[in-house]
Amino acid sequence: MKVLVPVKRVVDYNVKVRVKSDQSGMDIANVKMSMNPFDEIAVEEATRLKEKGVAAEVIAVSCGVAQSQETLRTAMAIGADRAVLVQTDAELQPLAVAKLLRAVVDKEQPQLVILGKQAIDDDANQTGQMLAALLGWPQATFASKVEVADGRAVVTREIDGGLETLSLTLPAIVTTDLRLNEPRYVTLPNIMKAKKKPLDTHTPEDLGVDVAPRLKTLKVSEPPARKAGVKVADVAALVDKLKNEAKVV
Ligand code: AMP
Repeated sequence: MKVLVPVKRVVDYNVKVRVKSDQSGMDIANVKMSMNPFDEIAVEEATRLKEKGVAAEVIAVSCGVAQSQETLRTAMAIGADRAVLVQTDAELQPLAVAKLLRAVVDKEQPQLVILGKQAIDDDANQTGQMLAALLGWPQATFASKVEVADGRAVVTREIDGGLETLSLTLPAIVTTDLRLNEPRYVTLPNIMKAKKKPLDTHTPEDLGVDVAPRLKTLKVSEPPARKAGVKVADVAALVDKLKNEAKVV
């Protein structure tokens, strides 16, 4: 069974981004870029499936600028066997990414696609769901446990009220939540090995996908600064303030 893992190159989670002065977007010139953390969890999960003998091959795919190759090399250092880059300088919105991924799925015919639940740059949380809809495949989002056997994926997912378990027929789409696993530390020998693994490059044009944006950003602004809090002497004072000032109890 082949497992496809889409990985996105995003601003590193430690970077504090700033809004551009013209409010057209975030200023990400010269900031550190890394693999989206949820995608690292997805690559780790696919690699574990391979190590258990459930998956035969793990393919990482990224859509974006040429530097996304670095993200794909990291995926291969974790354990992906090969990689596919869909290279473009165009701004890619989730629907465009989902269409590109559908084209890669058509070529590669994986039985399972494991995506991150969301990319931490735009926090869209849309691509996996859109890909499932485009392919007409079952989906289990926010997975905290995945078991694959006998042509099915049994997925435990985190929902507001607790945990839910879904049994999906393959091929299927799964998106990862934080508690699914803890990605392994990438070792130097594996980074060196990853440099020799195959990386194919396509373009949206040769996949026949129109990636024109469907949404327009009108303005990006900082959230309003929070007012400083107050310290209360004891619980009685707190309850008094909640009752008489905030009027919430
Ligand atoms: P989003 O819907 O943008 O929050 O992203 C959800 C997931 O879709 C990510 O965690 C990735 O697995 C995948 N994804 C989003 N954008 C890309 C991209 N440009 N290239 C590859 N995978 C992507």
